Amino acid sequence: MTVRSYTHFINGRFDGASTDFVERKAPATGETVATFASGTQDDMDRAVQAAREAFDKGPWPQMSGMERAEILNRYADLVKANFDKLVQIEIEEVGKPIRFARGDVSGVVGLIRYAASLAMQMVGSTYTNLGANKTALLMREPIGVVALVTPWNFPALILAQKVPFALAAGCTAVVKPSEFTSGSALELAALAVEAGVPAGVFNVVSGKGSVVGKTLTEHPGVDFISFTGSTRVGQEVMQASSKNVVKTSLELGGKSANMVFADANLDDAVDGALMGVFFNNGECCVSGSRLFVQNSIADEFIARVTERSKKLKVGDPFDEDTDIGAMIDPKHHGKVLEYIDSGVAEGAKLLAGGGAASGAGHFVQATIFDHVQPTMKIFQEEIFGPVLSITRFETMEEVIELANDSPYGLSNYVWSKNIDTVMNVAKRLKSGWVQANTVIDGAPQLPLTGVKGSGYGYEMGQAGFEEFTQLKTLFIHTGPRTPVFGR
Ligand code: NDP
Repeated sequence: MTVRSYTHFINGRFDGASTDFVERKAPATGETVATFASGTQDDMDRAVQAAREAFDKGPWPQMSGMERAEILNRYADLVKANFDKLVQIEIEEVGKPIRFARGDVSGVVGLIRYAASLAMQMVGSTYTNLGANKTALLMREPIGVVALVTPWNFPALILAQKVPFALAAGCTAVVKPSEFTSGSALELAALAVEAGVPAGVFNVVSGKGSVVGKTLTEHPGVDFISFTGSTRVGQEVMQASSKNVVKTSLELGGKSANMVFADANLDDAVDGALMGVFFNNGECCVSGSRLFVQNSIADEFIARVTERSKKLKVGDPFDEDTDIGAMIDPKHHGKVLEYIDSGVAEGAKLLAGGGAASGAGHFVQATIFDHVQPTMKIFQEEIFGPVLSITRFETMEEVIELANDSPYGLSNYVWSKNIDTVMNVAKRLKSGWVQANTVIDGAPQLPLTGVKGSGYGYEMGQAGFEEFTQLKTLFIHTGPRTPVFGR
């Protein structure tokens, strides 16, 4: 197997300055698949300086939207041309099944193309009703140098939820990918330069969050921080940003409710229950990991979900038939197994799975618990693995209360053919997203945001694009002014 070896990508090229490297072992096989430079404070300083110069001296922020859109569309073409390589990297470094890795890279192409269209839609507004001789322009400008910190579960996709939008707005960026999965970020930076993005506009520094992530989020050269990751680290990022009073956007953890009413299309809902929790190995912020089923259909519905879960294939992520790949690393694997043990210890009823799956990698069986109570750890905490908690409910009131009984508020799902049920539930859920009769769906046009412990700020859509801009108000007085103070 070829081991990919990467240095940082700074100022338009792979940077030769690093001497310290870390090995990435594939979570599904234990084999070394890549080496990444272990970044230092100095590496991050150089990257921020490159982005600062590229922003302050141009030409990227001064280019027309049309020019930036053309380059971004070329970038999308290049990503498409490198599809197989990027898919391979995501499978090897993350351990995710091939069909989901393919979906991620297709998603990257779509996000870049959508962002390219937004480059031509960077509009402010004008006030002409302020009185005679007075006009005000709200001018939309790029926010500046942006710090983008990304997690390991969707390394390419989450990067593409940020970088193309920042670039479309005319910003310059420094990315800190997860230390486990930096390969696609580095490849995507090199492809951007190949497409015509000027040197210094898109930089990537690999290494530990506690070193380079901290340096980046505390850096005085940064104008905006967009962070995706855990709530705990999000809190640290908030503190770091306060040092230089920098705007932040935080996309954090989740514990989504997947609510099935008796009048739902139950075939679809069974599939939605499985997809909700087993997609991407369960390592998904919008995972529908808490399933709520209405009492009148509960026994039969849960039996169907359980039976189907037992047929899922856990193992080699390169196998087209694999449903669940490997957990990201041994520590996380151990943490997921501990949650399973806690579910048993706290008295939930184990219906399927319940432990590690066999193989050379960090595999976990598709696991299902029934009769989960809101006081249990597996109900309240983000497990980030293939573990489903089922709770039964009687009324709409009850399930809304159960769904909102969470420190998180990222996404929720409701299954019902009754539009009144869908609307009434959706309006009362405390989450940034609600999806009806579908699960973990989305499109580049639709903004993602969280409430409560899931963070704040928008990613994707027009709202996500505008996070990378700011309004400057220009107040213009024309013609003679009436003196305010005496002559
Ligand atoms: P972490 O919070 O552990 O890490 C996220 C990123 O932050 C990594 O690049 C990490 O670096 C970096 N980091 C760590 N410490 C610091 C620090 N002090 N300052 C700055 N950066 C730092 O999350 P995971 O990578 O474990 O990802 C899983 C989490 O992400 C889950 O909670 C999940 O719900 C959430 N998530 C949220 C999404 C959303 O859209 N809301 C989407 C996807 C995931 P390193 O790992 O290299 O140390």
